[in-house]
Amino acid sequence: MKFFCTECNHEFEADKPSKKEYKDYILGPCWKYVSDCPKCGQETNEKIIPKPQKLTISYPQNSCNGDCNCCG
Ligand SMILES: [Zn+2]
Repeated sequence: MKFFCTECNHEFEADKPSKKEYKDYILGPCWKYVSDCPKCGQETNEKIIPKPQKLTISYPQNSCNGDCNCCG
């Protein structure tokens, strides 16, 4: 997993990143991977940050195919 430190512009690979929970003001509780920069010790985000992942279990989308009464 690759991380990029914006403090010292250092890119590094982390074997054991830690999972950090944080609050997104839109999505609420989320988590991301962080790791300490080996150069400056700064907490560093994953290089490519995917979309915030919600902590709560997401339910599958309604897979109604029209064979029911729910969609007329
Ligand atoms: Zn750094």
